[in-house]
Amino acid sequence: MSYLTGLTRGKKAWTPRFVKSIDPELCIGCGRCIKICAHDVLAPAEVDEEESAKMFATVASPDDCIGCEACGRTCKKDAFAFEPLAA
Ligand code: SF4
Ligand code: SF4
Repeated sequence: MSYLTGLTRGKKAWTPRFVKSIDPELCIGCGRCIKICAHDVLAPAEVDEEESAKMFATVASPDDCIGCEACGRTCKKDAFAFEPLAA
């Protein structure tokens, strides 16, 4: 199967891996991934009042993802799954 590819500034081909899911069992609500995403793909989940200081992440706007994987790199709990897009 072939996948959607992009180009770097130097015109080298690369294969974006788009955010697929966040494992709610692993997420500790640190909010780092939400802050680091430059495309506002991720958003805090609704939480009860006792947990209101936490920012459990959800994939709110998957169609805006560019597949940079920055969110996964900043997640210390390895909660992210990514996948390339079939061309
Ligand atoms: S960086 Fe990881 S642990 Fe922190 S909010 Fe995002 S998914 Fe959850
Ligand atoms: S892969 Fe990049 S664009 Fe997509 S959600 Fe993660 S940080 Fe945002």
